Amino acid sequence: MATLHNLGFPRIGPGRELKFALEAYWRGETDAASLEGTASELRRHNLMLQYNAGLDWLPVGEFSLYDHVLDTSFLLGHVPSRFRDGSGLSERDQYFRVARGRAPEGAPATAAEMTKWFDTNYHYIVPELEDATRFSLNAEKWLAEIDEARELGVPYKPVVLGPVSYLHLSKCKGASAEALDSLEALIPLYRSFLEQMHQAGARWIQMDEPALALDLAQDWRVAFERAYGELGTRTARPRILLTSYFGPLRDNLETVTRLPVDGLHLDAVRAADEVDRVAARWPRDRVLSLGVIDGRNVWRADLQALTDRLAPFHDARGDGLWLAPSCSLLHVPVSLAPEDTMDDELRSWLAFATEKLDELATLGQALNQGPASVRDELDASARAVQARRRSEQVVRTEVRERMRQLGDDMFRRRSPYPRRAGAQQQRFALPRYPTTTIGSFPQTAEIRRVRSRYRNGRISADEYRRFMKECIAEAIREQEAAGLDVLVHGEAERNDMVEYFGEQLDGYAFTRFGWVQSFGSRCVKPPVIYGDVARPGPMTVDWVRYAQSLTDRPVKGMLTGPVTMLQWAFVRDDQPRGDTAFQIALALRDEVADLEAAGIGMIQVDEPALREGLPLRRAEWDAYLDWAVRAFRLATAVVRDDTQIHTHMCYAEFNDIMAAIADLDADVITIETSRSDMELLDAFEGFAYPNEIGPGVYDIHSPNVPEQEAMEQLLRAAAGRIPPERLWVNPDCGLKTRRWEDVRPALRNMVAAARTLRRESGQTATA
Ligand code: GLN
Ligand code: ZN
Repeated sequence: MATLHNLGFPRIGPGRELKFALEAYWRGETDAASLEGTASELRRHNLMLQYNAGLDWLPVGEFSLYDHVLDTSFLLGHVPSRFRDGSGLSERDQYFRVARGRAPEGAPATAAEMTKWFDTNYHYIVPELEDATRFSLNAEKWLAEIDEARELGVPYKPVVLGPVSYLHLSKCKGASAEALDSLEALIPLYRSFLEQMHQAGARWIQMDEPALALDLAQDWRVAFERAYGELGTRTARPRILLTSYFGPLRDNLETVTRLPVDGLHLDAVRAADEVDRVAARWPRDRVLSLGVIDGRNVWRADLQALTDRLAPFHDARGDGLWLAPSCSLLHVPVSLAPEDTMDDELRSWLAFATEKLDELATLGQALNQGPASVRDELDASARAVQARRRSEQVVRTEVRERMRQLGDDMFRRRSPYPRRAGAQQQRFALPRYPTTTIGSFPQTAEIRRVRSRYRNGRISADEYRRFMKECIAEAIREQEAAGLDVLVHGEAERNDMVEYFGEQLDGYAFTRFGWVQSFGSRCVKPPVIYGDVARPGPMTVDWVRYAQSLTDRPVKGMLTGPVTMLQWAFVRDDQPRGDTAFQIALALRDEVADLEAAGIGMIQVDEPALREGLPLRRAEWDAYLDWAVRAFRLATAVVRDDTQIHTHMCYAEFNDIMAAIADLDADVITIETSRSDMELLDAFEGFAYPNEIGPGVYDIHSPNVPEQEAMEQLLRAAAGRIPPERLWVNPDCGLKTRRWEDVRPALRNMVAAARTLRRESGQTATA
């Protein structure tokens, strides 16, 4: 009998109950008991849901009030020293303080760093290893959650982040620069943790080691052998299910087969081509868990095909074959049930977390009791998958035709950059150190209110347009008053840089409640790209044309790039991601051409997600960067020489993909550098970026108004590495989260800084 289990369930709740409970607690409106009450209710609800679906082992301990990596830090007694001040905070409040940088009563301390969990859009709190770090075990949280499961009488399997991945995700802040130096100290703690789980009645424990999907240096592989070799004897601990996910094991398989664990979970979606190899190597007397239901995407599985695929493994392994989602269901929305306004056909193609549990149960029954016992369900799922691939909603002939006719010249600007730069200089006659912004201006409460009233049909399209034009006019006035050289329309009409475009493109769908946790109480609602992407009509032209009509200075058009449009969505899995990116690029290409025809001389195509789209394994980087760069070029290379293409990216770690960024061949790139004190510019020592660049001199993430002097300093540093005639002056990201009161003086200071540098270089007017 194949055994069914789950790796983790969304914590946020079907109605984002956890979010609201957390935020009320943080605002001081509710007490700890009330927060705990909501959390406990959610956990029990999730357990019963999984139990009723028919799963044999339910995860416990994976629930979190904020983040499971932070939970692991607290399990290990690992609280960075700057958060320990003996202020007598409860452990819970100390936990929130690390996560959020402040206690409920507002004690100061900058929050711990947060970064993306592997290649997902979930962010975890980075553990900070210091010289003074001492660990001590506190498994209360796990024990309490086990008690809940026991009270409900459901079979549970504690989940914990394993020691090697925990250290791999950590950052060293002390003198000893090796995270692995802490392994020795962690092993006995994990050993006692396992003993405690054993005493609490756990028969299995799920030890998550997602680092196994990464390229691991030899010392990290050795660390796996050391750690798992010392976790105690089988009589004193639960059986260990070693859990990898997000990718194949590849060259880590050898190491894994040597570990004295009792079971292995493989992400059979991302590592589909590795299943046979792993099964051949993995002993029959140990559990093999195959993650066959996609935990990273929202498509319904073909259960008939899976039944056929899994039957031989089932015959060979019996109840030693476990089945599960590929990874924790944390990364998909909770349930399709409330999506009652969604198109019926589209809905029939989807499965969110709750539906995925049912898929798993059906699959289990097909294997355990024979396909005949669930004939209808298997047929229905196979039909849904086939229907999706053939549907008229999905396959659009015009798009397919254009994809077939892509020619090399469509990926190349007419002339190389130096020629274009000349033509652009002639057209725009910008001064040296031209000033601009990244696109958005403060999204005031009024702007948000008007957008939502328009959405709900409470104001007319005319009223809405009039209001937005007013916002644009105001943004133009402000920018002229600040003395900026290149203006923007301000993006007041956009609530989100992906959603705004997705809503106007064919092939994109939006859910009403499809929330996925991004970090802490913050959730995002990614769109679903289900079909060929096409642009029914212009998306931004009217707004930008209007903005340009109000001023003599150039106004930049503002678009979201193909990779970002893809990366922040659930993407169809029936064609390569690169093909979908190209379809989006073609739609954007038409928009770019329309903007140019409307007299817009500068067009910015934002790609903040370019870097985060990088595959986990280096061997796959080139293939990714190749299509990602080509998609950007396809979207932009349609313009004349004297039309200036800008791009923007906001992350500080791109030294390793510098060549690809240069390959985008944008005329101007604006990037984030201000927080890292121009550290990023080190990259320009070894790699001469060929076109123009605007290293952000103003950190928009901080509410402080940047000083003119400080910005001048940053510019001088930049001018030491980038030829001044190719330098731009700008903030490091959009200003939508800031207030006008802060933006106004900040921009004036920024313009003044640029003017100082112009004076210093003896260039006051046109170059
Ligand atoms: N143009 C967008 C803005 O200014 C860019 C945002 C981003 O890069 N994240 O808001
Ligand atoms: Zn940005």
